Amino acid sequence: MFFRLQVLIAAAGLLVSSITTCAAGNVLVEAESFRDKGGWKVDQQFADIMGSYFLLAHGMGRAVENAKTTLSFPTKGVYYLWVRTRNWAPGKWDAPGRFQVVVDGKTVDSVLGTNPGWSWQSAGKVKISGTEVPIELKDLTGFDGRCDALFFSTDSQNVPPDDLTKLAAWRRQISGLPEVPSATVEFDVVIVGGGIAGCAAALAADKQGLKVALIHDRPLLGGNASSEVRVHTLGIYGKGETMLKGLDTKHWPNGSAKAIPDTTKRHKTMDAAKNVHQFLCWRAYDANTQHSRITSIDARQTESGEIKCFSAPVFIDCTGDGWIGYWAGAEFRYGRESSDTYAETWSKHGDKWSPKVADSRTMGSSLLWNSERAGAPVTFPEVPWAMDVAKGHAATSGEWYWEYSSNDKHQIDDAEEIRDHLLRAIYGSFSNAKKDPKNANTRLKWVGYLSGKRESLRLVGDYIYTMTDAAERRTFPDTVVEERREIDVHYQLEKSSFLSRALFYKTGGTYYIPFRSLYSKNIDNLMMAGRCFSCSHIGLGGPRVMKTTGQMGIATGYAAWLCKKYKTTPRGIYKAHIEELRGLIGY
Ligand SMILES: Cc1cc2nc3c(=O)[nH]c(=O)nc-3n(C[C@H](O)[C@H](O)[C@H](O)COP(=O)(O)OP(=O)(O)OC[C@H]3O[C@@H](n4cnc5c(N)ncnc54)[C@H](O)[C@@H]3O)c2cc1C
Repeated sequence: MFFRLQVLIAAAGLLVSSITTCAAGNVLVEAESFRDKGGWKVDQQFADIMGSYFLLAHGMGRAVENAKTTLSFPTKGVYYLWVRTRNWAPGKWDAPGRFQVVVDGKTVDSVLGTNPGWSWQSAGKVKISGTEVPIELKDLTGFDGRCDALFFSTDSQNVPPDDLTKLAAWRRQISGLPEVPSATVEFDVVIVGGGIAGCAAALAADKQGLKVALIHDRPLLGGNASSEVRVHTLGIYGKGETMLKGLDTKHWPNGSAKAIPDTTKRHKTMDAAKNVHQFLCWRAYDANTQHSRITSIDARQTESGEIKCFSAPVFIDCTGDGWIGYWAGAEFRYGRESSDTYAETWSKHGDKWSPKVADSRTMGSSLLWNSERAGAPVTFPEVPWAMDVAKGHAATSGEWYWEYSSNDKHQIDDAEEIRDHLLRAIYGSFSNAKKDPKNANTRLKWVGYLSGKRESLRLVGDYIYTMTDAAERRTFPDTVVEERREIDVHYQLEKSSFLSRALFYKTGGTYYIPFRSLYSKNIDNLMMAGRCFSCSHIGLGGPRVMKTTGQMGIATGYAAWLCKKYKTTPRGIYKAHIEELRGLIGY
């Protein structure tokens, strides 16, 4: 099952075409390409699984402003309308994310977002009386309605397919878009993922004068530290203080709006790096390989649908999820190793720390959120669809421990369900809190909708970093990163499906990470920095914080320059030029 859908979609060569197409009585428009998004957000997180980017009406319980665009129709007349959408919390209640379509100023009767699972929902017949027609999406609830695309056809039998492989082929055929990018752009290094690791890698490569592509699927840089997710950066600077101070955050409470100025600072830092070509709102969706080398990466703009091929002699995977490695066929790990695999037992905590038998459990994903006091009483709608998750829990804000992981939920395959589970936990718990008169004036201030992830794929390098390395504070001839914080891994509380607890193992001092954990064992020109570096589940527990992942980024960015200088691979750097790399870092 793991990544099954993604493979099918990638094989079909198309995740989504974010454009409007019209031909022979058919008009297809991708919601994320709407000219004016109103209060709807572009959600790119699950494209590799459900097949597309889409618009999300994330209004925290208040209907968001209409999204608007204008469509060209080939002819006037009666059209049948289908909308690809999803009821994200089906049950014996009204669907939470309901919306309607407005055509030429008239609201179409059908209420959408009411069918379970991603599918084309019929909105019935609409009369088109011009060739340039305004279309709007009208949110009815503010509770995360979602719209992927609208399809108008003069033929009532022309129902678009739901099957993902067929849908990808259908989209390609109806839009007439090329299967592969027609343009290739060349760089010295291509970095995918603009979290702290990706930004730091780009800064180090920039400093050495490399022509850098930084491909990132959001408008804002920083990954979990950005103002879209709002996690503050922890860890030590190691030798990377100068660069990391331009990227990190102050120590505000997670979820705080103080993430906004830190995000501005980060963008200023990155904009000053003149060799870094930022491709913001571009999501990589495939890696092209020859033998054991990546030749290029394909990426798609998340609103216009434009596709480009990025080539370079060396690539750095900073996606957190290890996507580039996965597409290239890099060896990877997922889940918890058995405690005897790397002698990672901590008897005090037994299975909660490390299981006797390996399993597919990971640390979970989180949505941070908070509320504020208004000057007068504020109502909050009933949320019956949230209550079987929230149960009796009442809260007015959520910290890092609002976390969902489960052995039968995969952090990538089930990512949308995990995110939605957290939304239900938040809205249900807030609804419970609102029943207390002391919260009469309390209203939601900010709720994240981008999952903050902690763990999914870990790409395998020449060295797998483990608990023993941290606990014994082993030194390495190829040390390029250092850290002091405890090894901290989480487990789900039995009494709750959305609250976790952390276990902290003190290492007693500084521990070190070797360069061999930052390049792939079997893909010759692939490095990785961030939470997808080469480690065991417990090995990830300490260095997963963002100043440490930033140090990893710096090491890989400098290594990319040495790869160019000596026309060699990352392993070649380890074998012949490791002292030069360490010298560049500051050792
Ligand atoms: C709730 C929570 C609390 C935490 N607490 C702390 C803390 O207090 N301090 C701390 O330092 N760390 C904390 N962590 C851990 C830390 O945030 C993560 O380990 C860290 O973000 C990993 O960094 P990264 O760069 O690997 O990934 P990310 O920060 O996830 O960045 C990767 C980026 O790549 C982008 N991307 C992914 N795929 C693609 C693609 N195909 N194409 C283009 N772009 C792509 C993503 O949108 C993402 O923004 C916490 C994590 C969570 C979830």
